[in-house]
Amino acid sequence: MSSPSQSPKVVLITGTSSGIGLAAAVAAARAGWTTVATLRDPSRSGALRKAAAEAGVELDIRRLDVTDEASIRSAIEGVLADHGRLDAVVNNAGSGHLGTMENESVAEVRKVMEVNFFGVVNVSKEAMPHLRAGGGRLITVSSVGGVVGQPFNEAYCAAKFAVEGYMESLAPVAAAHGVSVSVIEPGAVATEFVANVGVDLEGAVAEAGVYAPQLGAYLNRTIAQFSDSAAQTPEGAAESVLKALTVDEPAFRLQTSDWARGFVATKLADLDGSAVLGLTNTWIA
Ligand code: NAP
Repeated sequence: MSSPSQSPKVVLITGTSSGIGLAAAVAAARAGWTTVATLRDPSRSGALRKAAAEAGVELDIRRLDVTDEASIRSAIEGVLADHGRLDAVVNNAGSGHLGTMENESVAEVRKVMEVNFFGVVNVSKEAMPHLRAGGGRLITVSSVGGVVGQPFNEAYCAAKFAVEGYMESLAPVAAAHGVSVSVIEPGAVATEFVANVGVDLEGAVAEAGVYAPQLGAYLNRTIAQFSDSAAQTPEGAAESVLKALTVDEPAFRLQTSDWARGFVATKLADLDGSAVLGLTNTWIA
């Protein structure tokens, strides 16, 4: 049996049933990583298995629900028992949420935080001692919505802002122990993301009360942005995940497209907030 230093590096990715996580799992396996592709519901692994077979790569598929601490511990213990090492984690699992502030309950907002923020904290905490052992990488799929607040996405953007604040704070501490920390910032990507939000668009506008005109305008813009011709492919977005996984000294913040880079750049130079609000005001007009 090969010693850990000779065996291929091991990456664990969350949320690989579809989209960016699926594409990143296939890309990592293609690049020679032992890839632990995790899903909260293994019965939803059909598309992942098909993509791996088509790419001619093997994946180690395991159950992991980012809101279930026991499932995280069990997946990571299983990886260490079977592979003897854990070199990288990609916190990819996440779900969108659309709502009007006055209509959505605090319980709904907490649920969005639970998956998109506390899920990331849960997995990262459990993985860190093992990443530290081998100079590993902690990568989290955030969003341009982790930098720029977007109308009717208050809860989702709050969760992604929280992810970025957490990871930016952690980065120097982790680096002092040999672990690099990166966040990936996609714009619109053509995945199951919008369908998984599960919003009946007409119903949402009908129930939006005084906010109906702004929500209608926002949805029209968003539908155009997510049309297949405008959105990035999941494989394109996964290239940035692979970059964070493989380049020497990855950047902390990686945007997945030129559009995402320009959008994030607007915010990072916007000291008084007027540039972003000037832009997002037009989305709901
Ligand atoms: P997606 O196709 O909907 O994939 C999301 C994945 O997360 C699915 O595999 C889903 O599993 C999984 N997931 C949800 N809740 C989970 C939980 N509690 N535990 C484990 N897995 C869970 O969407 P995607 O676009 O690829 O999203 C991936 C990441 O990119 C997310 O963090 C998202 O916020 C971010 N992002 C997406 C876009 C975009 O435009 N698509 C833009 C910016 C950022 P199930 O199949 O079981 O639901």
